Amino acid sequence: MAMQNTVQLLGKITEILNDDKTKFKLSIKKNDTKFVYPVIKLSKQMEYLKNTLEIGKTILLEGKIFVEQENYTYICPCCNKLNETSFHRTTILATKAFIVTTEDKEPYLNKILLIGSLCSNPQLKYIPGKFSQIPNAKYQIATKRICEGTDFPWIVTFARQAEEDMKRLKTSSQVMVDGAILTRPFKKKFQCEHCKKEHNIEDTTTEIHGLKIEYLNNCNFDEFDNIQSKSIFQKLKEFLAN
Ligand SMILES: [Zn+2]
Repeated sequence: MAMQNTVQLLGKITEILNDDKTKFKLSIKKNDTKFVYPVIKLSKQMEYLKNTLEIGKTILLEGKIFVEQENYTYICPCCNKLNETSFHRTTILATKAFIVTTEDKEPYLNKILLIGSLCSNPQLKYIPGKFSQIPNAKYQIATKRICEGTDFPWIVTFARQAEEDMKRLKTSSQVMVDGAILTRPFKKKFQCEHCKKEHNIEDTTTEIHGLKIEYLNNCNFDEFDNIQSKSIFQKLKEFLAN
């Protein structure tokens, strides 16, 4: 499988997330009103930067999408007992990072390039838009790490790109995703292992907004193939019939 997993981000540090200061939240402008807040983790070779990280500083980084298992503990509001669980969190592993100074109040860069294969068929739903319902496709891809292992990030696409994805993609289709990091509030469902009651826990989920999808291997090209294979004579006949 071809490998490509590159993330380039520029944003402001809004929160340091762990005691050894290697994990932090970045605020990146998405459009005029929205911001996204991806979680960044410094790679081993970048750990020397940790003592210079401060809330409000601007950081430029290059890295890769990294889906890691995160342990989580919560106290059940019904029975007050402790629950331990774990889930997958999509983070960015920074392999190069620089603290930068800029006059720009809201500098931003949010670029991702990924190659991967779909783990299952894409799913479509419609979300409310300004004037009408907008198609929204969602699919998980497997993308290989350079050294070892595989990551499974989620891709989301909208409008025409979503419609096209639904036509072209299926399980095991290989795609190149040119996109951006997207984060949104998300309610996680947990069931208490002691009293069995279910609770919603507020969290943030990180996905990749596919701005442009290139269809590589094992995609549906039926329509395209049909047009190609039609003889000139047949095309002419159709043209005259119309
Ligand atoms: Zn409970």
